[in-house]
Amino acid sequence: MFASLDPTFRDSPDGAEALGILRSCVHCGFCLATCPTYQLLGDELDSPRGRIYLMKNMLEGQPVSRLTQRHLDRCLTCRSCETTCPSGVQYGRLVDIGRNYVETRVKRGPLDVFKRTLLKHVLPRPTLFRPLLAFGRVFRPLLPRYLRRKIPAYRPPGPWPQPRHGRQMLVLAGCVQPALAPDINASAARVLDRLGISLITAPRAGCCGALAHHLSDEGAAREAMRRNIDVWWPFVEQGAEAIVVTASGCGTEVKEYGHALRHDPAYSDRAQQIATLTKDISEVILEEIRDNELFNKKNKLKQSVSIAFQSPCSLQHGQKLGGVVEGLLERWGARLVVVPDAHLCCGSAGTYSLLQPGLSRQLQANKIAALESGHPDLILTANIGCLTHLASATETPIQHWVEWLDARLSEQHQSPP
Ligand code: SF4
Ligand code: SF4
Repeated sequence: MFASLDPTFRDSPDGAEALGILRSCVHCGFCLATCPTYQLLGDELDSPRGRIYLMKNMLEGQPVSRLTQRHLDRCLTCRSCETTCPSGVQYGRLVDIGRNYVETRVKRGPLDVFKRTLLKHVLPRPTLFRPLLAFGRVFRPLLPRYLRRKIPAYRPPGPWPQPRHGRQMLVLAGCVQPALAPDINASAARVLDRLGISLITAPRAGCCGALAHHLSDEGAAREAMRRNIDVWWPFVEQGAEAIVVTASGCGTEVKEYGHALRHDPAYSDRAQQIATLTKDISEVILEEIRDNELFNKKNKLKQSVSIAFQSPCSLQHGQKLGGVVEGLLERWGARLVVVPDAHLCCGSAGTYSLLQPGLSRQLQANKIAALESGHPDLILTANIGCLTHLASATETPIQHWVEWLDARLSEQHQSPP
């Protein structure tokens, strides 16, 4: 695609990157077939190619309106279009640049500003989010049904193994996950402990920055990244082998630290090293199980339950790890049912379910129908956002897959040989 950007923007780092991305698009339109918002709305401006045109026009200096902002806001940043695109267009990076550009030129309405400010300040701060969640749990029966189902029941995390191994890895605690589902990281710690790795947390690390990033507050996002790098770095210097992430949305963000801080001389090198060390929990387990008897194929767990795995967009499109968890689950004897349209987003997408509730609910209903079409006993996923979002709309039990694995390994350990 030919593009000639506005000279005042063209020579900036974002301008140079945007130009390269715009020029890589050949307008073939293959991406339309796998875009969830285009499937729902049927409007080319709500497709990847349409949004790319909108961004091209705007970055070339044409007037920007609320309409452009609305079409960009409706994008889930699911990156399904990137997986489909034969030309390797980095749509996710382009839409970040486009949104930041619009944000400085188009004023949002007061309600929109209020909602976005509230989300940006409450969700990443456990000191605010925890009491609100506790309040919600106490008054759950009095809340409207939709809100009630958004608040998961408390599940105790169980014991966290003492750091007893020479090999250590850091785990990202995150912001909302420790309050919503503290059992996920505890399960990961128990699974890795069986593999001879102690999982440790860095007490002052916090939100990965994704919340602020997706709300176009790049300053706050980079601040969160720098804080995490400062907190993790001494552990890395002492030999922590990896930064393990159990929420695939956060993993996608931390793997981008090197790119996000590439122009920051004080952080660029460390940010790149942190990004390289970052692994989704599935990558770590896949790497470690080869020679471990407990995880050997011969030790397949006997499973009678059937499972539907919901592969989050951040796992399959963001981190390009589609099929990894499914392979691990089958290795341990899980009976996986086919999930139609597994490439489509469930509508959670960070804060999307709160900012675009109508579209989000349609995607949620479609995803639940797809997951339940094979009549599974259980749904497993790999991201806290998808887990909470889907759990609010189904009676089928839903868990993070590492919780399921931890429970199966405990059963195997307790059962007589
Ligand atoms: S598939 Fe890729 S090259 Fe084709 S229109 Fe979509 S983004 Fe552009
Ligand atoms: S990121 Fe997802 S919603 Fe946005 S244009 Fe691409 S496929 Fe469509």
